[in-house]
Amino acid sequence: MDTLENYPSNMPYYRSIGNEVTLFEHAYRHQLPVLIKGPTGCGKTRFVTYMAAQLGRPLYTVACHDDLTAADLIGRHLIGHESTYWSDGPLTRAVREGAICYLDEVVEARKDTTVVLHPLTDDRRILPIERTNERLQAPPEFMLVVSYNPGYQNLLKGMKPSTRQRFVALRFNYPTPSIEQEILIGETDIDKSLALRLVNLTNALRQLKDHDIEEAASTRLLVYAAILIKHGFDPVDACRAALVEPLSDDIDTVNALMEVVLATFGK
Ligand code: ADP
Repeated sequence: MDTLENYPSNMPYYRSIGNEVTLFEHAYRHQLPVLIKGPTGCGKTRFVTYMAAQLGRPLYTVACHDDLTAADLIGRHLIGHESTYWSDGPLTRAVREGAICYLDEVVEARKDTTVVLHPLTDDRRILPIERTNERLQAPPEFMLVVSYNPGYQNLLKGMKPSTRQRFVALRFNYPTPSIEQEILIGETDIDKSLALRLVNLTNALRQLKDHDIEEAASTRLLVYAAILIKHGFDPVDACRAALVEPLSDDIDTVNALMEVVLATFGK
């Protein structure tokens, strides 16, 4: 288990939760694509960044959105001074360099992107580039990782079984309180008792189910609250700004959440 004392300074800090590090290493070694599902801000991106550093591979991260097309991933011809020239997209670059390509929130991308991913995610491991008449064979070091948040999914956007069944899948969630406390200290260096209070508060907030709270407070927001408090911001105001207002626009919901905050940090 990594502790901060023996954590290499050039490595992104990542506190492993279960067997995800070993599974990822196996997947990399055996050229299996990986799918990570989990709520926002629970450590998916940090994990992939850490694994890329561990495995010594460059990482290309693409934040997918509903306008993202296959050409955004593969590349396109651009207009130069005298003629057009081909410019590789991040996926093509990753295949050429034997890098890790991470498609964050892949279900957001346009459907034509799945056509590109299919031949890369089975034993062919090829990337056909129609525009340049190339057919790239992915080297063993190339790895495709995708993630999505099952909470956001709707029927139209959900991943088709024919796509999802091409990946080894990992489920992430918010860590247990003791691990989340450790992460908070690892990320912000706040003292143990403050970390514990913040983690307990966040877990109390997570219990509150309200129609206006689409998703519970994330580990990312918890880190924000800790940073604000550590640098002298009033704890109640910090929790409002980091743990309450980002969750809801409804004033009654915000007030209900603030009551929980005041029970922890109120004078
Ligand atoms: P996601 O990609 O799931 O939306 P991130 O990976 O960006 O979330 O995580 C958000 C933040 O939470 C990170 O920047 C980091 O500060 C913290 N974090 C979450 N999980 C961990 C973990 N296991 N180890 C270290 N930091 C973590």
